[in-house]
Amino acid sequence: MPEETQAKTSATTDTPSSPASGQSPAPRGPRPAGGPGGRGKFFRRKKVCKFCTEKIDAIPYRDVRLLQQFVAERGKIVPRRLTGVCTTHQRRLTRAIKQARNIALLPFATHH
Ligand SMILES: [Zn+2]
Repeated sequence: MPEETQAKTSATTDTPSSPASGQSPAPRGPRPAGGPGGRGKFFRRKKVCKFCTEKIDAIPYRDVRLLQQFVAERGKIVPRRLTGVCTTHQRRLTRAIKQARNIALLPFATHH
């Protein structure tokens, strides 16, 4: 498309001085607990494994309400980094969700 090229050329890049182009927002190193930084936009939940906290060892696949907290609207399993679930429990959770799907308690991911 020639139009695209032209538009890009004519629009002189007016990038102000932005040293960090937002490539790596991930903080490194240990985070100070209870810092003043209030960047938690989407995280209301503490980043601790819910199941460890509540000492749930085997995840009840029949507990739809529980499982739904870890399933997105389309039926996708929410990644660990968002839920804060530890690896062990994420695995069990995944299994539980799949089991729940199989007995039709939870929907499969919709592909439409
Ligand atoms: Zn855990």
